[in-house]
Amino acid sequence: MRSLATLLDDVKNCQRCAESLPFAPRPVLQCRASARILIAGQAPGRKAHDSGLPFNDVSGDRLRSWLGLSRETFYDSHQVAILPMGFCFPGKGRSGDLPPRPECAPMWRAELLAHLKHLELTLAIGRYAMAYHLPGAGSSVTEVVRAWREHWPRVVPLPHPSPRNNRWLAQNPWFETELLPELKTRVADVLR
Ligand code: SF4
Repeated sequence: MRSLATLLDDVKNCQRCAESLPFAPRPVLQCRASARILIAGQAPGRKAHDSGLPFNDVSGDRLRSWLGLSRETFYDSHQVAILPMGFCFPGKGRSGDLPPRPECAPMWRAELLAHLKHLELTLAIGRYAMAYHLPGAGSSVTEVVRAWREHWPRVVPLPHPSPRNNRWLAQNPWFETELLPELKTRVADVLR
């Protein structure tokens, strides 16, 4: 197995699906072997692509409030790893960003995760991360998130924190009243 430093260098130089991306590949992730929390998202949006900082947008602000984390802690790679299912901005489709590139997770994910030996909590955000980190858990985001207690305390499925999901949040008030308070406590415990 490659060292984590070599592996991250190889990710940085990856051109695997360059022809399918709207811009030159720019993998956006943070990863250190000491991380205790893994944020498994979908793919960087345009703002994250431009800044090189994952969740550097209103979705990230909402995610940090869900987790009870400051920006400082969220971006502390010694504590928090951020590995989306696709590392590069996939471009925009007719209804928002395109899905993560399917080439990315098979190419990189297992080897990166093998270096993260101190993980205590994985946040599987959106259906692509749920399919990978909770295989067989269900086909709809609502179904999987509603059954969050089945995977507690190591993996917590979450809807994407995008404003596009405001309607979902309004239709599923249990998410904010039941899951989020438990999640905040769990995150604080893991990082204590
Ligand atoms: S999305 Fe993943 S596989 Fe495609 S170029 Fe970026 S790092 Fe490589």
